[in-house]
Amino acid sequence: MTLYPALITEALATVRYPGSGKNIVELGMLEDDIRINGDSVSFTLLFEKATDPFKASLLKTAEAAIHLKAPGAKVTINTAVRREPAEAPAKAPVLPGVKNIVAISSGKGGVGKSTVAANLAVALAAEGYSVGLLDADIFGPSVPKMFGLENEQIYMHEVDGRNLIIPAMAYGVKVLSIGFLLDPDSAAVWRGAMASNALKQLIEQADWGELDYFLIDMPPGTSDIHLTLVQTLGLTGSVVVTTPQQVAIADARKGIAMFRDPKINVPVLGIVDNMAWFTPEKHPDEKYFLFGKEGAVDAFAASLKVPVLAHIPLVAAVGDHSDSGSPIVLEPTASAQAFVHLAHELTEAVARRNNDLPPTQKVNVH
Ligand code: ADP
Repeated sequence: MTLYPALITEALATVRYPGSGKNIVELGMLEDDIRINGDSVSFTLLFEKATDPFKASLLKTAEAAIHLKAPGAKVTINTAVRREPAEAPAKAPVLPGVKNIVAISSGKGGVGKSTVAANLAVALAAEGYSVGLLDADIFGPSVPKMFGLENEQIYMHEVDGRNLIIPAMAYGVKVLSIGFLLDPDSAAVWRGAMASNALKQLIEQADWGELDYFLIDMPPGTSDIHLTLVQTLGLTGSVVVTTPQQVAIADARKGIAMFRDPKINVPVLGIVDNMAWFTPEKHPDEKYFLFGKEGAVDAFAASLKVPVLAHIPLVAAVGDHSDSGSPIVLEPTASAQAFVHLAHELTEAVARRNNDLPPTQKVNVH
């Protein structure tokens, strides 16, 4: 049995507060202090009043819920009375050692967002930057497969008295995936409900350490995960991946509108034109524009005054390498060059952004 914070949160989210129709996690009763030590776990539940009539029965139910998921776990539940927000201590900044945080997003699934995120991360690491990659795509976490980390176990260690998740390391990149925490067989709606908590844990309770670039592979479209992310971190910017197909471009436009919404206000660093053309393996100099017209993404980007950071060809080997867990960017091929070029363009776009704009603020939504 391996205990980890998301397992505890998941178990507690099955415990309803009588009469409210809501679970104790949704009600904000779980304090941010889950401590795990071997097979022991402790945490605090907040009650409105010291004399809460359901306190004793809720504590029993909570312990039973954890035992269902982790039989034999030693559970210590502390209780506290909710304090007024004004009294809450100021929180330390999230990820103080991380210089630049970039969300890799797309309007639509299947355009190659994860492929771009993985190869970009490896390309940056190969240039000597320290790089982290967080796979937040709850609908299809594919980063573990691309890095050959499918059977990865989560381990934790103590840093300054806090138990933190240790990112896996592959091709010089620190990697964590929401797929490591969510049960792949559970229903999508349940995963959606759990995902925001899991995402926050992977950011706030993981030992990312010092990073030059922290890339986050987002779910496609616009979702609760996007909102959680911008509430948890001030993003340096976003990169939007699209193919030249009109449907993909139309959805990319919506994604860019979300980041540019005044309430979100995350700079869009650039667009990646993936599967820009097809190049047959045996004829590397030939280009066939299968999806949409040549220049469709350039015209789209120009209309929004966003740079195109790279055009990446559709080449069978790109997909084959992802499937076999070794990113293509490490191979001496033309498509690898496209990802290396993307890495250079991104570092320049980030530098320009940091020169021109103040740090992005976290979004405060009540
Ligand atoms: P998304 O994250 O947008 O859902 P993926 O990165 O999972 O998309 O890519 C979808 C599929 O397309 C995968 O099978 C991937 O290997 C393949 N793919 C992505 N980009 C390319 C490319 N440039 N050339 C060939 N195959 C690609």
